Amino acid sequence: MTMVIGLTGGIGSGKTTVAERFGRYNIDIIDADIVAREVVEPGTPGLEAIVEKLGTDILLTDGTLDRSKLRQAIFDDNSLKDWLNALLHPMIREQMKADIAQATSPYCLLVIPLMVENNLQAMTHRLLVVDVDEEVQIARTRQRDKVDASHVQKILAAQASRQERLDAADDVINNNGDSNELDDAVSELHQQYLAMSLHYQ
Ligand code: ADP
Repeated sequence: MTMVIGLTGGIGSGKTTVAERFGRYNIDIIDADIVAREVVEPGTPGLEAIVEKLGTDILLTDGTLDRSKLRQAIFDDNSLKDWLNALLHPMIREQMKADIAQATSPYCLLVIPLMVENNLQAMTHRLLVVDVDEEVQIARTRQRDKVDASHVQKILAAQASRQERLDAADDVINNNGDSNELDDAVSELHQQYLAMSLHYQ
């Protein structure tokens, strides 16, 4: 069984950036956001169930899910969010498990933005948290997404607190520094994970 390193952090903390750095060492990366899209691709039971519930109006002309319409439908009817989560979360978990089983690198990364919120640490052997100061997090998110500070604050309020994530962490990357510092932190962890992975093969 491949050792699974969970990677999480708040919005704009640097999860995607960190995952890309591990990818340079040819580590297999399973990204929950990507899997969440795969389980509603045309032809999937996920999309079929959504169409059954909301009608074909929820599709774009090319047969893919109209995400902005779905967002609006959730906004209009809050219970729809619970229904969708109950439908899709098990599908996402199963697909992530299948992807982990396919991994061929010495260990793999499972990137889940809301890992702590959804209590998904059990899918991993070890949890790596990307941590940044809140002002850095807000500034980087504002710059990346071209949004204002209050928008980011709202998202932060809906996520686990920095402390809750740190409490759950086995390893922490502090990403307040520059790109070189990040490279060094990832390189060091990679060596540690390679050594640990020997116990899982
Ligand atoms: P997440 O995936 O956690 O939301 P990202 O990896 O997208 O975060 O990082 C948020 C933004 O900050 C991106 O624009 C990214 O390029 C930038 N960024 C990440 N790490 C650093 C760093 N150490 N120094 C400068 N910018 C960074």
